[in-house]
Amino acid sequence: MPAFWTEADWDEHELVEVVHDRASGLSAIVALHSTHLGPGAGGTRFWHYADPAGGLRDALRLSRGMSYKNAMAGLPMGGGKAVVLLDANRTKTPTMLAAFGDAIDALSGRYVTAEDVGASEADMVAISERTPHVCGLPAAEGALGGDPGPFTAQGIFLGIKAAVAHKLGQDSVAGVRVALQGCGSVGGGVARRLAKDGAIVTVADIDHRRAQALAAEIGGTAIEAEAIMAAPCEVFSPNALGAILDEESIGRLDCQIVAGGANNQLARRGHGTLLAERGILYAPDYVINAGGIINVSLEYLARQYGQPFGKQDVLDRVEQIPHRLKSIWQESEASGQSSDAVADRMAQQLIGRG
Ligand code: NAD
Repeated sequence: MPAFWTEADWDEHELVEVVHDRASGLSAIVALHSTHLGPGAGGTRFWHYADPAGGLRDALRLSRGMSYKNAMAGLPMGGGKAVVLLDANRTKTPTMLAAFGDAIDALSGRYVTAEDVGASEADMVAISERTPHVCGLPAAEGALGGDPGPFTAQGIFLGIKAAVAHKLGQDSVAGVRVALQGCGSVGGGVARRLAKDGAIVTVADIDHRRAQALAAEIGGTAIEAEAIMAAPCEVFSPNALGAILDEESIGRLDCQIVAGGANNQLARRGHGTLLAERGILYAPDYVINAGGIINVSLEYLARQYGQPFGKQDVLDRVEQIPHRLKSIWQESEASGQSSDAVADRMAQQLIGRG
Protein backbone atom coordinates (compact mmCIF):
# COMPACT_ATOMS: atom_id res chain seq x y z
CA MET A 1 0.00 0.00 0.00
CA PRO A 2 1.50 3.43 -0.87
CA ALA A 3 2.70 5.48 2.12
CA PHE A 4 0.06 8.07 1.18
CA TRP A 5 -2.81 5.87 2.35
CA THR A 6 -1.20 5.01 5.64
CA GLU A 7 -0.60 8.68 6.54
CA ALA A 8 -2.07 9.22 10.01
CA ASP A 9 -3.21 12.68 8.91
CA TRP A 10 -5.29 11.39 6.02
CA ASP A 11 -8.86 12.33 6.93
CA GLU A 12 -11.15 11.74 3.98
CA HIS A 13 -9.58 14.63 2.07
CA GLU A 14 -11.65 15.34 -1.02
CA LEU A 15 -8.63 15.83 -3.21
CA VAL A 16 -4.88 15.75 -2.89
CA GLU A 17 -3.01 16.87 -5.98
CA VAL A 18 0.71 16.60 -6.59
CA VAL A 19 1.88 19.21 -9.08
CA HIS A 20 5.16 19.02 -10.95
CA ASP A 21 6.26 21.42 -13.64
CA ARG A 22 9.60 20.48 -15.12
CA ALA A 23 10.18 23.77 -16.95
CA SER A 24 9.96 25.94 -13.82
CA GLY A 25 11.07 23.32 -11.28
CA LEU A 26 7.78 23.65 -9.38
CA SER A 27 6.87 20.79 -7.03
CA ALA A 28 3.76 21.36 -4.97
CA ILE A 29 0.98 19.58 -3.13
CA VAL A 30 -2.56 20.95 -2.95
CA ALA A 31 -4.80 19.32 -0.34
CA LEU A 32 -8.52 19.98 -0.23
CA HIS A 33 -10.01 18.59 2.95
CA SER A 34 -13.61 19.71 2.54
CA THR A 35 -15.61 21.93 0.21
CA HIS A 36 -18.86 21.20 2.05
CA LEU A 37 -19.31 24.86 3.06
CA GLY A 38 -17.65 26.50 0.04
CA PRO A 39 -14.36 26.69 -1.81
CA GLY A 40 -11.45 25.27 0.18
CA ALA A 41 -9.56 28.29 1.50
CA GLY A 42 -6.13 28.25 3.10
CA GLY A 43 -2.68 29.59 2.45
CA THR A 44 0.31 28.23 0.58
CA ARG A 45 3.41 27.30 2.56
CA PHE A 46 6.73 27.69 0.73
CA TRP A 47 9.19 25.46 2.55
CA HIS A 48 12.15 23.15 2.12
CA TYR A 49 11.39 19.65 3.40
CA ALA A 50 14.32 17.24 3.74
CA ASP A 51 11.72 14.52 3.06
CA PRO A 52 8.78 15.41 0.77
CA ALA A 53 6.58 13.20 2.96
CA GLY A 54 6.84 16.03 5.52
CA GLY A 55 5.28 18.35 2.94
CA LEU A 56 2.42 15.93 2.35
CA ARG A 57 1.86 15.61 6.09
CA ASP A 58 1.79 19.41 6.47
CA ALA A 59 -0.64 19.81 3.56
CA LEU A 60 -3.01 17.16 4.96
CA ARG A 61 -2.89 18.41 8.54
CA LEU A 62 -3.13 22.08 7.67
CA SER A 63 -5.99 21.66 5.18
CA ARG A 64 -8.07 19.80 7.76
CA GLY A 65 -7.25 22.61 10.19
CA MET A 66 -8.55 25.14 7.67
CA SER A 67 -11.84 23.21 7.27
CA TYR A 68 -12.33 23.41 11.02
CA LYS A 69 -11.19 27.02 11.29
CA ASN A 70 -13.37 28.32 8.46
CA ALA A 71 -16.40 26.39 9.67
CA MET A 72 -16.05 27.64 13.25
CA ALA A 73 -15.58 31.21 11.98
CA GLY A 74 -18.98 30.94 10.26
CA LEU A 75 -17.43 31.46 6.83
CA PRO A 76 -18.95 30.04 3.63
CA MET A 77 -15.56 28.47 2.90
CA GLY A 78 -14.20 24.95 3.03
CA GLY A 79 -10.67 23.96 3.96
CA GLY A 80 -7.61 23.58 1.80
CA LYS A 81 -3.90 24.19 1.93
CA ALA A 82 -0.99 24.04 -0.48
CA VAL A 83 2.69 23.38 0.05
CA VAL A 84 5.36 24.36 -2.46
CA LEU A 85 8.37 22.13 -1.96
CA LEU A 86 11.43 24.37 -2.29
CA ASP A 87 14.99 23.17 -2.76
CA ALA A 88 17.56 23.51 0.02
CA ASN A 89 18.41 27.05 -1.19
CA ARG A 90 14.71 27.97 -0.93
CA THR A 91 14.70 29.11 -4.56
CA LYS A 92 11.39 30.70 -5.51
CA THR A 93 11.21 32.07 -9.07
CA PRO A 94 8.61 34.05 -11.07
CA THR A 95 8.15 31.09 -13.46
CA MET A 96 7.51 28.81 -10.50
CA LEU A 97 4.87 31.19 -9.13
CA ALA A 98 3.27 31.42 -12.58
CA ALA A 99 3.14 27.62 -12.89
CA PHE A 100 1.69 27.40 -9.39
CA GLY A 101 -0.94 30.01 -10.31
CA ASP A 102 -1.87 27.90 -13.36
CA ALA A 103 -2.20 24.80 -11.16
CA ILE A 104 -4.58 26.65 -8.81
CA ASP A 105 -6.55 28.01 -11.75
CA ALA A 106 -6.98 24.48 -13.12
CA LEU A 107 -8.96 23.68 -9.95
CA SER A 108 -11.56 26.24 -11.13
CA GLY A 109 -12.09 27.84 -7.75
CA ARG A 110 -12.37 24.68 -5.65
CA TYR A 111 -9.21 25.93 -3.89
CA VAL A 112 -8.48 29.56 -2.94
CA THR A 113 -4.99 30.40 -1.77
CA ALA A 114 -3.40 33.10 0.40
CA GLU A 115 -0.12 33.68 2.27
CA ASP A 116 1.33 31.20 4.73
CA VAL A 117 4.85 30.65 6.07
CA GLY A 118 7.43 31.65 3.43
CA ALA A 119 4.95 33.56 1.26
CA SER A 120 4.64 37.30 0.75
CA GLU A 121 2.02 39.67 -0.59
CA ALA A 122 4.20 40.03 -3.70
CA ASP A 123 3.94 36.24 -4.25
CA MET A 124 0.13 36.48 -4.09
CA VAL A 125 0.21 39.33 -6.62
CA ALA A 126 2.33 37.14 -8.95
CA ILE A 127 -0.11 34.22 -8.53
CA SER A 128 -3.06 36.57 -9.16
CA GLU A 129 -1.70 37.22 -12.65
CA ARG A 130 -2.62 33.60 -13.48
CA THR A 131 -5.72 32.96 -11.40
CA PRO A 132 -8.44 34.96 -9.60
CA HIS A 133 -8.60 32.31 -6.86
CA VAL A 134 -6.17 34.04 -4.53
CA CYS A 135 -6.59 36.45 -1.62
CA GLY A 136 -4.34 38.29 0.81
CA LEU A 137 -3.59 40.81 -1.94
CA PRO A 138 -2.51 44.36 -1.09
CA ALA A 139 -5.51 46.43 -0.03
CA ALA A 140 -6.57 49.41 -2.09
CA GLU A 141 -7.56 52.42 0.04
CA GLY A 142 -10.64 51.52 2.11
CA ALA A 143 -10.92 48.05 0.52
CA LEU A 144 -10.53 44.64 2.12
CA GLY A 145 -7.25 42.76 1.98
CA GLY A 146 -3.73 43.49 3.11
CA ASP A 147 -1.98 42.18 6.21
CA PRO A 148 -4.29 39.78 8.08
CA GLY A 149 -2.13 40.07 11.24
CA PRO A 150 -4.05 42.94 12.91
CA PHE A 151 -7.40 41.11 12.52
CA THR A 152 -5.88 37.92 13.89
CA ALA A 153 -4.44 39.89 16.83
CA GLN A 154 -7.79 41.57 17.55
CA GLY A 155 -9.58 38.20 17.67
CA ILE A 156 -6.96 36.77 20.03
CA PHE A 157 -7.17 39.83 22.27
CA LEU A 158 -10.97 39.45 22.50
CA GLY A 159 -10.51 35.71 23.10
CA ILE A 160 -8.08 36.33 25.96
CA LYS A 161 -10.54 38.79 27.52
CA ALA A 162 -13.28 36.15 27.26
CA ALA A 163 -10.99 33.52 28.85
CA VAL A 164 -10.13 35.87 31.71
CA ALA A 165 -13.83 36.53 32.29
CA HIS A 166 -14.66 32.81 32.13
CA LYS A 167 -11.80 31.47 34.26
CA LEU A 168 -11.00 34.35 36.60
CA GLY A 169 -14.38 36.10 36.70
CA GLN A 170 -12.83 39.43 35.72
CA ASP A 171 -14.33 41.81 33.16
CA SER A 172 -10.98 43.37 32.33
CA VAL A 173 -7.40 42.24 31.75
CA ALA A 174 -6.12 45.07 33.97
CA GLY A 175 -3.52 43.61 36.35
CA VAL A 176 -3.64 40.19 34.68
CA ARG A 177 -0.17 38.72 34.06
CA VAL A 178 0.30 37.51 30.48
CA ALA A 179 3.38 35.62 29.25
CA LEU A 180 3.51 36.00 25.49
CA GLN A 181 5.65 33.88 23.17
CA GLY A 182 6.52 35.34 19.75
CA CYS A 183 6.68 39.07 19.05
CA GLY A 184 5.89 39.09 15.33
CA SER A 185 2.90 40.41 13.45
CA VAL A 186 0.35 38.58 15.62
CA GLY A 187 2.14 38.48 18.99
CA GLY A 188 3.10 42.16 18.76
CA GLY A 189 -0.50 43.15 18.04
CA VAL A 190 -1.84 41.06 20.93
CA ALA A 191 0.77 42.46 23.34
CA ARG A 192 0.00 46.07 22.42
CA ARG A 193 -3.73 45.59 22.90
CA LEU A 194 -3.26 43.83 26.25
CA ALA A 195 -0.83 46.42 27.58
CA LYS A 196 -3.17 49.25 26.53
CA ASP A 197 -5.88 47.61 28.68
CA GLY A 198 -3.61 47.39 31.71
CA ALA A 199 -2.34 43.79 31.55
CA ILE A 200 1.13 43.03 32.91
CA VAL A 201 2.85 41.68 29.82
CA THR A 202 6.05 39.62 29.69
CA VAL A 203 7.28 38.83 26.18
CA ALA A 204 9.87 36.53 24.62
CA ASP A 205 11.13 35.83 21.14
CA ILE A 206 14.07 33.86 19.76
CA ASP A 207 15.03 37.27 18.37
CA HIS A 208 15.64 38.74 21.82
CA ARG A 209 16.13 42.27 20.50
CA ARG A 210 12.68 42.12 18.97
CA ALA A 211 11.27 41.14 22.37
CA GLN A 212 13.19 43.93 24.08
CA ALA A 213 11.94 46.52 21.59
CA LEU A 214 8.34 45.40 22.07
CA ALA A 215 8.68 45.36 25.86
CA ALA A 216 10.13 48.88 25.82
CA GLU A 217 7.27 50.08 23.60
CA ILE A 218 4.46 48.68 25.75
CA GLY A 219 6.01 49.04 29.20
CA GLY A 220 6.40 45.28 29.62
CA THR A 221 9.28 42.93 30.37
CA ALA A 222 11.34 40.83 27.96
CA ILE A 223 12.73 37.49 29.11
CA GLU A 224 14.71 34.74 27.39
CA ALA A 225 12.75 32.60 24.93
CA GLU A 226 13.49 29.37 26.85
CA ALA A 227 11.92 30.78 30.03
CA ILE A 228 8.56 32.01 28.72
CA MET A 229 6.57 28.77 29.00
CA ALA A 230 7.39 28.38 32.68
CA ALA A 231 6.87 32.05 33.58
CA PRO A 232 4.35 32.47 36.41
CA CYS A 233 1.26 34.15 34.95
CA GLU A 234 -2.50 33.91 34.56
CA VAL A 235 -2.38 33.67 30.74
CA PHE A 236 0.20 31.98 28.54
CA SER A 237 -0.23 33.25 24.97
CA PRO A 238 1.65 31.27 22.29
CA ASN A 239 2.11 33.29 19.09
CA ALA A 240 5.15 31.71 17.49
CA LEU A 241 5.41 28.04 16.55
CA GLY A 242 3.03 25.09 16.57
CA ALA A 243 3.38 21.78 18.47
CA ILE A 244 4.69 23.53 21.59
CA LEU A 245 2.27 21.88 24.03
CA ASP A 246 3.32 18.32 24.89
CA GLU A 247 3.63 16.22 28.08
CA GLU A 248 6.86 17.91 29.09
CA SER A 249 5.94 21.55 28.38
CA ILE A 250 2.40 21.25 29.78
CA GLY A 251 3.97 20.05 33.02
CA ARG A 252 6.09 23.22 33.17
CA LEU A 253 3.26 25.71 32.54
CA ASP A 254 2.52 28.00 35.49
CA CYS A 255 -0.69 29.57 34.21
CA GLN A 256 -4.48 29.19 34.33
CA ILE A 257 -5.24 29.94 30.69
CA VAL A 258 -3.58 29.12 27.35
CA ALA A 259 -4.84 31.45 24.62
CA GLY A 260 -2.80 32.51 21.62
CA GLY A 261 -2.61 32.58 17.85
CA ALA A 262 -0.01 29.96 16.87
CA ASN A 263 -1.45 27.24 14.64
CA ASN A 264 -1.51 23.63 15.85
CA GLN A 265 -0.34 24.38 19.38
CA LEU A 266 -1.12 20.90 20.69
CA ALA A 267 1.60 18.45 19.67
CA ARG A 268 -1.10 15.76 19.65
CA ARG A 269 -4.86 15.86 19.99
CA GLY A 270 -4.80 14.22 23.45
CA HIS A 271 -2.75 17.06 24.88
CA GLY A 272 -5.89 19.15 25.31
CA THR A 273 -6.96 16.62 27.94
CA LEU A 274 -3.66 17.09 29.78
CA LEU A 275 -4.29 20.82 29.94
CA ALA A 276 -7.82 20.22 31.25
CA GLU A 277 -6.50 17.80 33.88
CA ARG A 278 -4.15 20.52 35.10
CA GLY A 279 -7.14 22.88 35.38
CA ILE A 280 -5.87 25.09 32.54
CA LEU A 281 -8.51 26.67 30.30
CA TYR A 282 -7.51 26.21 26.66
CA ALA A 283 -8.76 28.39 23.78
CA PRO A 284 -8.68 26.11 20.71
CA ASP A 285 -6.15 27.72 18.36
CA TYR A 286 -8.16 27.58 15.16
CA VAL A 287 -11.12 29.27 16.84
CA ILE A 288 -9.24 32.12 18.50
CA ASN A 289 -6.92 32.87 15.56
CA ALA A 290 -9.54 33.09 12.79
CA GLY A 291 -9.42 36.91 12.37
CA GLY A 292 -6.95 36.74 9.49
CA ILE A 293 -8.88 34.16 7.45
CA ILE A 294 -12.09 36.12 8.04
CA ASN A 295 -10.39 39.18 6.53
CA VAL A 296 -8.98 37.44 3.45
CA SER A 297 -12.11 35.34 2.85
CA LEU A 298 -14.37 38.40 2.78
CA GLU A 299 -11.80 40.09 0.51
CA TYR A 300 -12.10 37.12 -1.89
CA LEU A 301 -15.90 36.94 -1.75
CA ALA A 302 -16.17 40.69 -2.37
CA ARG A 303 -13.78 40.66 -5.34
CA GLN A 304 -14.84 37.37 -6.92
CA TYR A 305 -18.60 37.48 -6.37
CA GLY A 306 -19.20 41.19 -5.80
CA GLN A 307 -20.52 40.54 -2.29
CA PRO A 308 -20.83 43.87 -0.46
CA PHE A 309 -18.35 43.25 2.38
CA GLY A 310 -16.34 45.99 4.06
CA LYS A 311 -13.95 46.33 7.00
CA GLN A 312 -16.83 46.61 9.47
CA ASP A 313 -18.11 43.18 8.35
CA VAL A 314 -14.70 41.71 9.16
CA LEU A 315 -14.67 43.36 12.59
CA ASP A 316 -18.26 42.23 13.30
CA ARG A 317 -17.28 38.63 12.54
CA VAL A 318 -14.11 38.90 14.63
CA GLU A 319 -16.34 40.06 17.52
CA GLN A 320 -18.06 36.65 17.35
CA ILE A 321 -14.85 34.80 18.30
CA PRO A 322 -15.23 35.25 22.09
CA HIS A 323 -18.86 34.05 21.91
CA ARG A 324 -17.80 30.88 20.06
CA LEU A 325 -15.09 30.26 22.65
CA LYS A 326 -17.58 30.71 25.46
CA SER A 327 -19.95 28.14 23.99
CA ILE A 328 -17.05 25.68 23.58
CA TRP A 329 -15.98 26.11 27.21
CA GLN A 330 -19.56 25.75 28.45
CA GLU A 331 -20.03 22.59 26.42
CA SER A 332 -16.67 21.31 27.65
CA GLU A 333 -17.73 21.78 31.26
CA ALA A 334 -21.11 20.17 30.66
CA SER A 335 -19.72 17.16 28.80
CA GLY A 336 -16.41 16.68 30.62
CA GLN A 337 -14.64 16.66 27.24
CA SER A 338 -11.60 18.87 26.69
CA SER A 339 -12.22 22.14 24.84
CA ASP A 340 -10.21 21.08 21.78
CA ALA A 341 -12.25 17.88 21.49
CA VAL A 342 -15.50 19.86 21.79
CA ALA A 343 -14.33 22.32 19.10
CA ASP A 344 -13.33 19.46 16.77
CA ARG A 345 -16.75 17.85 17.22
CA MET A 346 -18.58 21.13 16.55
CA ALA A 347 -16.46 21.74 13.43
CA GLN A 348 -17.02 18.19 12.15
CA GLN A 349 -20.77 18.65 12.49
CA LEU A 350 -20.60 21.94 10.57
CA ILE A 351 -18.75 20.31 7.67
CA GLY A 352 -21.21 17.43 7.55
CA ARG A 353 -18.93 14.85 9.12
CA GLY A 354 -20.39 14.74 12.60
P1 NAD B 1 5.76 36.29 12.43
O1 NAD B 1 6.78 35.59 11.60
O2 NAD B 1 5.44 37.70 12.16
O3 NAD B 1 6.20 36.20 13.97
C1 NAD B 1 6.60 35.03 14.60
C2 NAD B 1 7.58 35.42 15.69
O4 NAD B 1 7.84 34.27 16.49
C3 NAD B 1 8.93 35.92 15.16
O5 NAD B 1 9.27 37.13 15.80
C4 NAD B 1 9.89 34.78 15.54
O6 NAD B 1 11.21 35.24 15.81
C5 NAD B 1 9.24 34.24 16.79
N1 NAD B 1 9.60 32.89 17.17
C6 NAD B 1 9.83 31.81 16.36
N2 NAD B 1 10.14 30.74 17.11
C7 NAD B 1 10.09 31.13 18.41
C8 NAD B 1 10.30 30.46 19.64
N3 NAD B 1 10.62 29.17 19.68
N4 NAD B 1 10.17 31.17 20.79
C9 NAD B 1 9.84 32.48 20.75
N5 NAD B 1 9.62 33.16 19.60
C10 NAD B 1 9.76 32.50 18.45
O7 NAD B 1 4.46 35.36 12.36
P2 NAD B 1 2.96 35.77 12.71
O8 NAD B 1 2.27 36.15 11.45
O9 NAD B 1 2.97 36.69 13.87
O10 NAD B 1 2.35 34.35 13.13
C11 NAD B 1 2.59 33.82 14.42
C12 NAD B 1 1.81 32.52 14.59
O11 NAD B 1 0.41 32.77 14.40
C13 NAD B 1 2.17 31.42 13.59
O12 NAD B 1 2.03 30.16 14.22
C14 NAD B 1 1.11 31.55 12.52
O13 NAD B 1 0.91 30.33 11.82
C15 NAD B 1 -0.10 31.92 13.38
N6 NAD B 1 -1.16 32.63 12.66
C16 NAD B 1 -0.91 33.82 12.04
C17 NAD B 1 -1.94 34.51 11.41
C18 NAD B 1 -1.72 35.85 10.76
O14 NAD B 1 -2.72 36.52 10.43
N7 NAD B 1 -0.48 36.31 10.57
C19 NAD B 1 -3.23 33.95 11.38
C20 NAD B 1 -3.47 32.73 12.04
C21 NAD B 1 -2.42 32.09 12.68
